[in-house]
Amino acid sequence: MSFNELGLAEPLLRAIAELGYTTPTPIQRQAIPAVLAGGDLLAGAQTGTGKTAGFTLPILHRLSNTAQQRTASGALAIRTLILTPTRELAAQVEQSVRDYGRYTKLKSMVMFGGVGINPQIDQLRRGVDIVVATPGRLLDHMQQGTIDLSHISILVLDEADRMLDMGFIRDIKKILAKLPSQRQNLLFSATFSDEIKDLADGLLNAPALIEVARRNTTAETVDQKVHPVDRDKKRELLTHLIKEHNWFQVLVFTRTKHGANRLAEQLTRDGIPSLAIHGNKSQSARTRALAEFKDATLQVLVATDIAARGIDIDQLPHVVNYDLPNVPEDYVHRIGRTGRAGATGEAVSLVCVDEHEMLSGIEKLIKRQLPREVIAGFEPDPTARPQPIQLRSNGGAGGGGQRQQQGRRGGGASSPHAKGANASVAAPARRAAPAGPSRGPRPPQAGAAGATGGGARRSSGGRGR
Ligand code: AMP
Repeated sequence: MSFNELGLAEPLLRAIAELGYTTPTPIQRQAIPAVLAGGDLLAGAQTGTGKTAGFTLPILHRLSNTAQQRTASGALAIRTLILTPTRELAAQVEQSVRDYGRYTKLKSMVMFGGVGINPQIDQLRRGVDIVVATPGRLLDHMQQGTIDLSHISILVLDEADRMLDMGFIRDIKKILAKLPSQRQNLLFSATFSDEIKDLADGLLNAPALIEVARRNTTAETVDQKVHPVDRDKKRELLTHLIKEHNWFQVLVFTRTKHGANRLAEQLTRDGIPSLAIHGNKSQSARTRALAEFKDATLQVLVATDIAARGIDIDQLPHVVNYDLPNVPEDYVHRIGRTGRAGATGEAVSLVCVDEHEMLSGIEKLIKRQLPREVIAGFEPDPTARPQPIQLRSNGGAGGGGQRQQQGRRGGGASSPHAKGANASVAAPARRAAPAGPSRGPRPPQAGAAGATGGGARRSSGGRGR
């Protein structure tokens, strides 16, 4: 199938042809006709599947085919609102809107916190058709009366699972309450918890259901392996692997912000240019690190899970789990950074004795055993005993430590460990034991309760504002 057969307008076909897209991806083949038809959509799609074009192209098509509208003050009215969990993802989605819409007259803007609000107010005054926003900053504009949402006819919740994980449910509800009731709703999520199901039940009207790439099956184009190693040899092993194989564009995941900073400094001292990216970094530092990483002047980007969300670099060749994630599903998200849209990639995990239970949780989730490969000179000590895993930074990284991410699993959001900012929380590895692969995508059941009662909390660090 070609894009021409999907019925998209010529200016859009021209733009995607220039971008080199020849064949729609599976999600695009299903989502584009569904969105063009005007109904609601519930899509289970992981990052890297081409989902952004899957909703952006038909939205641009629909908006181009209907007359632009004006608000009471005479400005161009916003007709589409796209909500994303992170600033990086918002920026990338809006760039896609610009790329795909470059031959249309449609105007868009990105809206997130951590940067001045006044330029955003100026843009809103001049008028845009499409706003791509993180929930926090959008609410700021709503509270200040600087945005008029009364003409929204299409709403997208992108990576809805992440938005809930990050505690945005209340913000989302406040935003939904201010939108016109007649509108098309598109909900994209990589995973389907009960909270997502509740949100979908309350939001979507007889949605088309699409699911590509079964959830929690990791991309087949990614070569995955585990290097068993002692906890205090990980840094040396990583340096060895990068130098030995001459890896470039390596995305390394650590569990904590402090760990990310420390590792980036150590690698740089080892002669491997590295920067860390996490929620305590300023927006400009994050943007700069990402730009250098994308243009390959920076060899290694060290990131925490939340910061890495939304990083979209074509054919990212190497992902390293320096620490295993304490939430097994984050493993799937992490390795989704590589092997995107058909490219091959490599994901290696450096696993010490403390992380064996985490590893088996991941393997249970993805339903396969990852191959182990011991690197000569880095053989783990067979007598080593597991130690409790530090789930938060010990300060030192400019304030609040990484919030424990247990909130994603049952009951975690109200866990006392989710509170407080700077305390160091050491938890035995078994805390991370998975609840089992019980979050498979399920269609929303008719007649189920409305939107969730909330309870998730906004994460520290102001992400998404
Ligand atoms: P996404 O899942 O939306 O983050 O997209 C993943 C990557 O795939 C992005 O870098 C897109 O530019 C790329 N992409 C999306 N659709 C296509 C397509 N039909 N053909 C080739 N690449 C695509």
